[in-house]
Amino acid sequence: MNKIKLLSFDLDDTLWHTAPTIANAERAFYEHLQCNAPALVAKFDPDALREHRWQYLRANPGLEHYVSKWRIDSLNQALIESGYGEQSGQLAAAAYDAFYQARQQVYFFEHCADILRELSKDYILISLTNGNADITRLPISKYFHSCFRAEELGAAKPAAPLFLKALTQANCHAHESIHIGDNTHDDVAGAKAVGMHAIQARLAENAPEPHPLADQHFDDWRELPKLIQLFNAS
Ligand SMILES: [Mg+2]
Repeated sequence: MNKIKLLSFDLDDTLWHTAPTIANAERAFYEHLQCNAPALVAKFDPDALREHRWQYLRANPGLEHYVSKWRIDSLNQALIESGYGEQSGQLAAAAYDAFYQARQQVYFFEHCADILRELSKDYILISLTNGNADITRLPISKYFHSCFRAEELGAAKPAAPLFLKALTQANCHAHESIHIGDNTHDDVAGAKAVGMHAIQARLAENAPEPHPLADQHFDDWRELPKLIQLFNAS
């Protein structure tokens, strides 16, 4: 019998390339505004709007773990500053929707979906993300027992709540689980801090060097099942 019961997965830069997805979503977001909020576009080019969003977060640090609300609220503020008054809320919600739709069009790393399908036969798979990707809208969701986002829990990795939520859902101990993710701070150090094993995904361009806390690391999805087996054999 396997010692490992739960595999929790980060999403961005672990299952798919994040940069092209975000670039597409930012483009869709701004194009929507070009069509629907010309006064805002006249005042903010894409860089200025991005800077406005960061400024808004600095003024409202409580939004840090609520990436969707942060984007909507900061755009609402930019629309008000552009003279849209009472229309701003509705315009911000519609522009966010354009972003969100595009955000779900992801570019999987090679072999990822096939390996997830295989792993789902032997393990409970749960996704844990700090971002706003929604895998319930993707075909691979059928391999996952559940999916949790930082903004649902009000706490982002590396804090413990997302990891503990996965352990509770899978009804297993930390030592019976492996978290797989690309971020050495949020994924590797965060998972190790709650006693889970950690495998570092080094798939994206400019992936960091293997972290000393990572139990294993991989740069090709086909390597992952063998690495997981090492924990069952130990
Ligand atoms: Mg990631």
